Amino acid sequence: MNEKDHKPATIAAQAAGAVEAQSGGVVPGISLATTYLRDADYGLMRPDNVYGRDQNDTVRQCEEVLRALEGAAASLLFPSGMAAIAAVFRALPSGARVVMQNGIYWGTLKWVRDYCVRRAIILDEIDAADPGALAEACRSSADMVWIETPSNPWLKTVDIAAAAGMAHKAGAVLVVDGTAATPVLTRALDLGADIVMHSATKALNGHSDVLAGVLSCREPGQAMWQEIATDRHDAGAIIGPFEAWLLMRGMRTLPLRMERMCENAMAVATYLEGRADIEAVYYPGLTGHAGHAIAARQMRGGYGYLLSALVKGDKTRALDVVGRLQLFHRATSLGGVESLVEHRHTIEPHTGIPETLIRLSVGVEDAGDLIADLTQALDG
Ligand SMILES: *Cc1c(COP(=O)(O)O)cnc(C)c1O
Repeated sequence: MNEKDHKPATIAAQAAGAVEAQSGGVVPGISLATTYLRDADYGLMRPDNVYGRDQNDTVRQCEEVLRALEGAAASLLFPSGMAAIAAVFRALPSGARVVMQNGIYWGTLKWVRDYCVRRAIILDEIDAADPGALAEACRSSADMVWIETPSNPWLKTVDIAAAAGMAHKAGAVLVVDGTAATPVLTRALDLGADIVMHSATKALNGHSDVLAGVLSCREPGQAMWQEIATDRHDAGAIIGPFEAWLLMRGMRTLPLRMERMCENAMAVATYLEGRADIEAVYYPGLTGHAGHAIAARQMRGGYGYLLSALVKGDKTRALDVVGRLQLFHRATSLGGVESLVEHRHTIEPHTGIPETLIRLSVGVEDAGDLIADLTQALDG
């Protein structure tokens, strides 16, 4: 059977075939060397291993799992999701024009706005979930279109295939932040994206114990990808081998975790939607969600683990509900096996996030236990 025929569960569980060749261990070791041997004729023992800054077998093994899951031509790991995002923007020429989805992960917007000012890059922020707005922005030529789907924390869904068509007409590459979907639910490159980015800190690793980011591409010969790869090598924004190894271990159960997390998130979203004291629930799996039809087309096997809800009442009520939760940990981040709750307004008070918005990252716990926890917190 060809590797191409293997399903995500097989690729992930067997770490895309990574084993410890020397000892015969079914789990690969961690390659910690920072420099590599040359023989008596000064030839490299392994031509692809000169120096550890950008050349490490453990990192490569982990990248191979990500590449295979994504159906990509190549994948590159970075020490965090933000480092991966920065690597893409650093590949743009000064004076470039970028069309960017608004209302996305705040860390991205904050850094990108600042970077674009410093590098004289024209930044057009638009609601990319509105196809009219995206088409309008793509009427003038652009270098890059950046979308995040489903978006964090609004769970807006962007039609990746349609966005790719519009971006390419404008002469731009389409980059998709697919953190909330993971390659298990959506393979953005198959839908026409040029580069897909994930914060592997989230569901890819899934255990809230590794910071990592990844970029994958469809066309490694593309000028932008070459710039990114060269910059990682020369400027040294690399992940450590231990983190890469942990991420590879975390991903062994990724498809399994996603299955349970999607199921749980759907149950939690449906429960919240049925409560009279909840004003709105944002989850692409709900038929009433604005992006449900697109999500049903481009997500397979579930609608993700992230959802937001507006509680009826005011900020005090929202914080009281959050404060009474016992199973959901009050913490930022998402995608771990443990469920998390966040009051985004407290974290970013001046960005238009409503005071009554609660964001949930649903883990792999028992759905009944999670719903019971929400019930006691809301009834409290
Ligand atoms: C967390 C996150 C990032 C940033 O990733 P880090 O690993 O925290 O640097 C980017 N995009 C989205 C959607 C995220 O949730």
